Amino acid sequence: MITTELEQLYESMGISKEVISYGEGILEELKDRFDAIDAVTEYNQAKVIHAMQECKVSEACLLGTTGYGYNDLGRDTLEEVYAHIFHAEDALVRPQITCGTHALALALMSNLRPGDELLSPVGKPYDTLEEVIGIRPSKGSLAEYGITYAQVDLLADGSFDWDGIRAAINERTKLVTIQRSKGYQTRPTLSVCRIGELISFIKEIKTDVICMVDNCYGEFVETIEPTDVGADMVVGSLIKNPGGGLAPIGGYIAGKKECVENAAYRLTSPGLGKEVGASLGIMSKFYQGLFMSPTVTSSALKGAIFAANLYERMGYAVIPNGTESRHDIIQAITFGSPEGVIAFCKGIQAGAPVDSFVTPEPWDMPGYDAQVIMAAGAFVSGSSIELSADGPMKPPYAVYFQGGLTWQHAKFGILKTVQSCLDAGLIDKEFKRIK
Ligand SMILES: *Cc1c(COP(=O)(O)O)cnc(C)c1O
Repeated sequence: MITTELEQLYESMGISKEVISYGEGILEELKDRFDAIDAVTEYNQAKVIHAMQECKVSEACLLGTTGYGYNDLGRDTLEEVYAHIFHAEDALVRPQITCGTHALALALMSNLRPGDELLSPVGKPYDTLEEVIGIRPSKGSLAEYGITYAQVDLLADGSFDWDGIRAAINERTKLVTIQRSKGYQTRPTLSVCRIGELISFIKEIKTDVICMVDNCYGEFVETIEPTDVGADMVVGSLIKNPGGGLAPIGGYIAGKKECVENAAYRLTSPGLGKEVGASLGIMSKFYQGLFMSPTVTSSALKGAIFAANLYERMGYAVIPNGTESRHDIIQAITFGSPEGVIAFCKGIQAGAPVDSFVTPEPWDMPGYDAQVIMAAGAFVSGSSIELSADGPMKPPYAVYFQGGLTWQHAKFGILKTVQSCLDAGLIDKEFKRIK
């Protein structure tokens, strides 16, 4: 409900009456979907509390160690909590894992050996992994160590190419990487259930192959996680969903004991593994962020669904579409022109609590092959669980939008994007696409 008071406040913040009422009209239709999200959130909130209670999280866990970090109670308990949530044997959750790409590289490099082959049965992996794997030649890539890579694309309708996958698995196939989220692609995101079907199929052909899921943006969107359907490892970033907006750095790997141990020996050193790695003063943020994560993820999901419906109604292609079920927090909107991507990102930036006065511009970002524009006025630099939008400046000129620590902020930021598109002449007064 928009009161006159709120309408006036929004107007003073640059959103016209027409944009507000267009938004309210769409929101009225989304009530049942929002209720369903709240039900998932309640389940996941309980799951997190249950894990914290079972693992006896105490006030002492919130303190940190320095130096080598031997016997770091907070760190070791947090890893137990993650293992509990993912129903996994073990977990590695560290501030020394610098980002999602690092966590994925760690999981791959520690579990593959020269002569092994890595398979992606879901098409091209996330852009930054191209250099990790060596698809684009890069120093220190898996390719440099004699680890080969095979890829089977999804079929045109987004389904798995079962025959192609069967043909690609060979005696050297050691690890299969499955990306849950769409990343910078306009393919559908995989549900945990579909990931389970894929893993069963692969394990039937080759039982001992390691199935790893890039879980970025997927955590707590459903009530189950890939480790509940047979994944040997799930990997993600703490400046996305599981950090709840509070973790200022970090990554995690949860799964089979052997896989996690391999990763720990690679992160620190052979012989040292999980025993070292001081948590400094960061543990309280990791715990509190994890505790907040289910509600933060649900705010982001509501924002994604709101945006999908607003932009679909205008005539833009959106993935997922307005009514589809959700398996991650990313919303892709295809503008078909650089102007659209830029106008959208300007709106998100103008809606931010931090750096709202700056104008985002496309730039050459490390790890990406085209210029990328990013809008983020975040408390944690680059955090994409906070309301943010980005897009590579190349066809089909799609913007990838995600995050929102609160639903109210997500809503506000999205209304700002509509205003920005209106002001840029991309849509008309009836909120229909012009270009
Ligand atoms: C964000 C992301 C990554 C990489 O994470 P960074 O923290 O940006 O390095 C990998 N895979 C997917 C699907 C992602 O969304």
